[in-house]
Amino acid sequence: MSLTHMDILVINSSTGTYNGTLKTYLLLQVDIRDEDALDAVFASTRFDAVIHFAGLKAVGESVQKPLFYYDHNIAGTINLLKVMAAHECKKLVFSSSAAVYGSPKNSPCTEEFPLLPHNPYGRTKLMAEEICRDIYRSDSEWRIILLRYFNPVGAHPSGYLGEDPRGVPNNLMPYVQQVAVGRRPSVTIFGNNYATKDGTGVRDYIHVLDLAEGHIAALRKLFDSSSNIGCEPYNLGTGKGTSVLEIVNAFEKASGKKIPLVIGQRRPGDAEILFAGTGKAERELNWKAKYGITEMCRDQWNWASKNPYGYGSPDSTKQNGSNSH
Ligand code: UDP
Repeated sequence: MSLTHMDILVINSSTGTYNGTLKTYLLLQVDIRDEDALDAVFASTRFDAVIHFAGLKAVGESVQKPLFYYDHNIAGTINLLKVMAAHECKKLVFSSSAAVYGSPKNSPCTEEFPLLPHNPYGRTKLMAEEICRDIYRSDSEWRIILLRYFNPVGAHPSGYLGEDPRGVPNNLMPYVQQVAVGRRPSVTIFGNNYATKDGTGVRDYIHVLDLAEGHIAALRKLFDSSSNIGCEPYNLGTGKGTSVLEIVNAFEKASGKKIPLVIGQRRPGDAEILFAGTGKAERELNWKAKYGITEMCRDQWNWASKNPYGYGSPDSTKQNGSNSH
């Protein structure tokens, strides 16, 4: 699939509800930067709200190709907001990231922490958030929820839907998965001398099912006429910190495979410990993550063992490329 597209999933716009049958879906692929094409989509259907996931997300690549990232993530978002406003669709759930915090000095990290991203990817998320805050200040009809994802992992329990990054995975879990299925020989641990429980970096991993529920909770909030939401950020995490070694051990248990490890250097810009404060989402969105590391690794392995080459074949996975939401 092209990197420049945005998949638009239309959910029965006549009733505004999803009734669980495939008939209610319409999938269109549109370049988010193509204002005319987006406008045609919004002219064809009345949308009640938008969940905006269309973005590039590889930190390293964003350092190499900042304009590529600003073009997709910022220019694309501006186009979308312009077209939404033109069609009087002013409810938005935006995929932001814990990357907007950079490396906070302590965790749990709450929504009030300073926003100091370290790389172009994180800055595109922060800038898109700032644009959202500004449009709300200029027009209070907007209702916007900014969801700051921590570390989404796992897969749909059916084993049919999972993450399939192109090229070398940037993130820990897909890397571990590729070692488990025999596509790579070992996982390199980026530093084992941090001041953490076992010396390896600590993050807040969240099951994609919980993340998806977080979006439903956000939509409910946007449609709750008793709340004056404005433009608000919410962390989506579990509130628990898990180390790299703990992830590897849990994955070994779930898969029954040995994951060979190599101890490497720290990755520049990596935070030591980062996990979410989740109180605001619990209180205001009535949402709380349900799944732990065991379920995340179980479902990740179910997807990986059924689809060792993701959606491709051994040959098709050799190409390099970017990762997008
Ligand atoms: N990590 C690692 N080896 C890898 C990929 C990641 O040791 O091949 C570590 C990384 O240093 C961090 C944790 O795993 O402590 C999660 O990294 P990831 O890139 O998945 O998420 P992020 O750093 O963006 O939170």
